[in-house]
Amino acid sequence: MRHSRTQPGYVRSADDTVQRGCPHCDWHAVEHSYPALISRYHAHLRETHHRAWVRS
Ligand SMILES: [Zn+2]
Repeated sequence: MRHSRTQPGYVRSADDTVQRGCPHCDWHAVEHSYPALISRYHAHLRETHHRAWVRS
């Protein structure tokens, strides 16, 4: 965990974000934590690429 320069638990800077694109479309997400990014990606798969989501 890195120290926040502003409010504890809330960091907004290019270095403290993680992002991921979708291999199936142009969707991509930026989050502040890896778990949040993963759950967002899975929600996208579930909603938009249901068959790919079921297979994985
Ligand atoms: Zn997608």
